[in-house]
Amino acid sequence: MHYILIRELRKSIRGFVKNGEVVIKAPYFVPQRVIDNFFAKHRDYFAAKLYPTYIYYLGKAYKIASIEEGYRLVDEHFLSDRYLEDNLALFYKTQAKEYLPGRVEMLASKFGDRYAKVHITAAKTRWGSCSSKGNINLSYRLMMLPPGTIDYVIIHELCHLHHFNHSKAFWKLVQQRCKDYKQHENELKKFAKFL
Ligand SMILES: [Zn+2]
Repeated sequence: MHYILIRELRKSIRGFVKNGEVVIKAPYFVPQRVIDNFFAKHRDYFAAKLYPTYIYYLGKAYKIASIEEGYRLVDEHFLSDRYLEDNLALFYKTQAKEYLPGRVEMLASKFGDRYAKVHITAAKTRWGSCSSKGNINLSYRLMMLPPGTIDYVIIHELCHLHHFNHSKAFWKLVQQRCKDYKQHENELKKFAKFL
């Protein structure tokens, strides 16, 4: 395994996988030895990103198999070319746009909530958020999760339409609407490593 080094004006070293390559961005003045150490330390992470063996979709694991170009979901397999990361992002995004707005509409009408719009985002650090204007923002990465946990995230954000914080009153409302919310919170933690 090797990496592509990009020197640029920045304060810290950052590494990621893009188009099937490990890319490390480092400040101009950092010695090569430090960059090599950084690479060695994060080797397992890069390897897992470069050569993942399965992906999650709606909480179910699919084996990754290779094809020449593009991506497809066939039976138990997610078929992808070498641009796996880009393929996956596109796959999740496409599915998210089809799946999530309908779930929000369904759950909002069940609880009598009124929201403005649903936005599908690429957020990596949060599954969802609710704006003061009443917009519900949902990460396309939610498509990895089991349907019940996706619903919980939506319910959580809908509850923020009533309580714009994580107060006791907020969690009481969450519990009323979703009795096993703690279980779903654990599920979210489990999947956070795939973000
Ligand atoms: Zn919240």
